[in-house]
Amino acid sequence: MPIRFFNTLSRTKEPFEPMEPGKVRMYTCGPTVYNYAHIGNLRTFLFEDLLRRHLKYRGFDVYHVMNLTDVEDKIIRACKETGEPLKSLTAKYVDAFFEDLDALGVERAEEYPAATDHIPEMVELIKTLRDRGHTYEIDGSIYFKLSTFPQYGALSHFDMDQLQSGASGRVDSDEYATEDARDFALWKAYDEDDGAVFWETELGKGRPGWHIECSCMSMKYLGESFDIHCGGIDNMFPHHENEIAQSEAATGKQFVRYWLHSAHLSVENKKMSKSLGNIYTLRDLVAMGHDPLAVRWALISTHYKQPSNFTFEGLEAAKVTLNRIRDFRIRLEGIRGEGSDLAEAIETCEREFGDALDDDLNISGAIAAVFEFVREANRLMDKDDLSQEGARQALALLDRLNAVTGLFSPPLVDEVPQSILDLVQERQDARRAKDFARADAIREQLTSEGWVLEDTADGPRVKRT
Ligand code: AMP
Ligand code: ZN
Repeated sequence: MPIRFFNTLSRTKEPFEPMEPGKVRMYTCGPTVYNYAHIGNLRTFLFEDLLRRHLKYRGFDVYHVMNLTDVEDKIIRACKETGEPLKSLTAKYVDAFFEDLDALGVERAEEYPAATDHIPEMVELIKTLRDRGHTYEIDGSIYFKLSTFPQYGALSHFDMDQLQSGASGRVDSDEYATEDARDFALWKAYDEDDGAVFWETELGKGRPGWHIECSCMSMKYLGESFDIHCGGIDNMFPHHENEIAQSEAATGKQFVRYWLHSAHLSVENKKMSKSLGNIYTLRDLVAMGHDPLAVRWALISTHYKQPSNFTFEGLEAAKVTLNRIRDFRIRLEGIRGEGSDLAEAIETCEREFGDALDDDLNISGAIAAVFEFVREANRLMDKDDLSQEGARQALALLDRLNAVTGLFSPPLVDEVPQSILDLVQERQDARRAKDFARADAIREQLTSEGWVLEDTADGPRVKRT
């Protein structure tokens, strides 16, 4: 069976066929960098990470672009409140975003274009829309005229006549008067509230609207038509509808073939909100002593289309499950001698795991297949009947499944003393600085202190020799 994804556009599960065989071009809406990402945002980014890793596991060459929204109403408000210039405020949260991704074991996309680095391209796209008769201007601001794009609403299956700006989702908070309440801003004329945030362009002094950046940067890096576009469900309307309108009105071509949207995360059965004080960041959870990998497990293990409920009980359960995997791996590593191999169980596990993820990323099915395998292998080990080669193959299986999920090769951080972890970090820093002599010297020091260091796809792992 081919890979199937639930496509928001058709409201059905469809076989996935990329435009170019063997290659997948995908775009995922990235963070608005005026604050730390909260665990709801991270849930969406982890779903997208699973998607790209699974496509790679199935042999596709994936080209993934995620934008960084670094100019937008909320960011400008934050600059005003803090007195910090836009660039330094956003740079801080861009760095924090990547730190969070690394801590969670999220693979890097191929490109992370920032909106403010693409102002000329956005101006060009707006000019194209203007030349094609899709815009109008009021007081220096340029709007998309929705009545010129009758297909509008196809993604969210809304009735156009009932659509009103502000009906749902994030809308432009500007107060400019438009001809039709549903029209949205492509270019916002300078307003004194914008402070130092403006660009002098052919369109006048101002800044881009939020939606145009995603049309512009996705098409720049992936072409006018591409395979997959993702985001959280709140992005579907109006943001993704507006992206479709801008892109298809400009090119006359289908913008995206498959739209995948993840459901929201709530916390202890409540919507995250400032007033409830339940908007957690990864940093908050780490400061409470939680392992980022347990957070990864907790956020990834509910199917992406199911609303997910984050609970501290669930996080504790994720920690227990991870420790079960750690114990299982340690047990396998200790196996010496002759006995049965696990060839059939390995084959069954990998097939069921892959089949489950092929079915619209059924993560629960995939995890269940792994735990069935763990039970089977433990049964053999209880009888002292697993061969060393069988154990080696089992560990290799876990590493392959880890490449897709990031869940099955957890580093044994718990037992490693801080001084050793510091050395590992120092070696990473040396490698990043291309100081390989220093990196090698640190490895030798680790060896002399009784630790072996392995570089895995998920970063370095240390264990006792
Ligand atoms: P933002 O930083 O607000 O632009 O959002 C980044 C991503 O997180 C978008 O794909 C949103 O749809 C998604 N997102 C926002 N809130 C939640 C939530 N509570 N649960 C899951 N995803 C969310
Ligand atoms: Zn977007």
